[in-house]
Amino acid sequence: VRSITEGDTEVLVPIPVEGANFAPSAAPVFYNPVMEMNRDISVAATSAFVKRMEPDPEKTITYVDALSASGIRGLRIANETGIHTTLNDWSEEACDLIQQNIDNLEIGHNTIASHKNANVLLHEKHFNIVDLDPFGTPAPFLAAAARSVINLLEVTATDTAPLCGAHLNSGIRKYAAIPFNNEYHSEMGVRILLGRIARELSLQDKAMNPLLTHATRHYVRTYLEMKKGAKQADKMLKNMGFIVHCPACGNREAIYGLAAHIEEKCGRCGEKNMLGGPMWLGKIHSPDFCSETIAELEARNCGTKQLAIKMLELCRDELDIPMFYDQHLICKKLGVSASAIETVIQELRNRGFKASRTHFSGISFKTDADISDIEIIIADLR
Ligand code: SAM
Repeated sequence: VRSITEGDTEVLVPIPVEGANFAPSAAPVFYNPVMEMNRDISVAATSAFVKRMEPDPEKTITYVDALSASGIRGLRIANETGIHTTLNDWSEEACDLIQQNIDNLEIGHNTIASHKNANVLLHEKHFNIVDLDPFGTPAPFLAAAARSVINLLEVTATDTAPLCGAHLNSGIRKYAAIPFNNEYHSEMGVRILLGRIARELSLQDKAMNPLLTHATRHYVRTYLEMKKGAKQADKMLKNMGFIVHCPACGNREAIYGLAAHIEEKCGRCGEKNMLGGPMWLGKIHSPDFCSETIAELEARNCGTKQLAIKMLELCRDELDIPMFYDQHLICKKLGVSASAIETVIQELRNRGFKASRTHFSGISFKTDADISDIEIIIADLR
């Protein structure tokens, strides 16, 4: 092992194996330095959420990192936010390393190591905050996490190929939904994952209010506030639905509900429509929560501060309308060259539409204009 520091926390992690085949998952205990921004945001978002809970000093707020590996994520939560943390992993080597890290940081008063199957632990105990950060898909842990969680569910998914439609059958098996592998596949992946989580929560008569969700390179991460009760769950499920997309002309429509009738042919160009879903069509962020998380990042020591803040500002300011438009694709179809993204957004606004940048892609935008209006505006810019 070697010692590294992330945020304010010094942690022992496995020494990387040199050579072409090195992958974090090949090490005896997993540690991936590329996920530092994910962890920086986790510490900030968890801290922002705990402040919202207005903690009663008499009551302990409990957090579980159900799939801990070296423990770095939960160790940072314990050390940098002070809440009670359980660090769980079914690997004995991981658990030994976690215990060593707890001892070194002298945080045994609010941190415990747990050596269980995550699903067993989550079925045995309730936690205020449940964090799932697995290899690949979180799907096998969602039922237990939905049962265990009281206030906040934090989930990472690194299986972007199944989520975004690049591995279609794998995605159908894990998420019981059909994604499109098209220009907005990253947002599709986010909404397929959220849809699967929403339905898992509804089994427990629970509902989610998404506070922050980001798709960054090879993963999706989401922070979901929990609400209790069958009525809340029924209300939440009204945000489920489908996207009808015409691959020929780019026309799309969101259809709300878990049963949908769609026209076989596109109303704009007459080509065959595609149907994706079911998925989450509701909000994926709360702008206030994004601002609170940004304030936490500003006040903290963390290696990815500037990058993380920049991304969260994009999340805070983006329109929460599915799905984004890729300017380059539209320009290619029209045979015109692309403009600065801000110019397109300004022109959409000048003509009375809502428009914003999106954290999903630097060359894309969100708007309530339809594809016909967008094409006219982009063509007029050239
Ligand atoms: N959260 C860690 C971080 O931020 O560095 C990374 C966790 S790593 C991607 C996934 C871990 O889950 C591995 O250490 C593996 O041993 C553990 N794991 C996989 N399946 C498990 C299960 N069913 N119960 C408990 N641990 C499990």
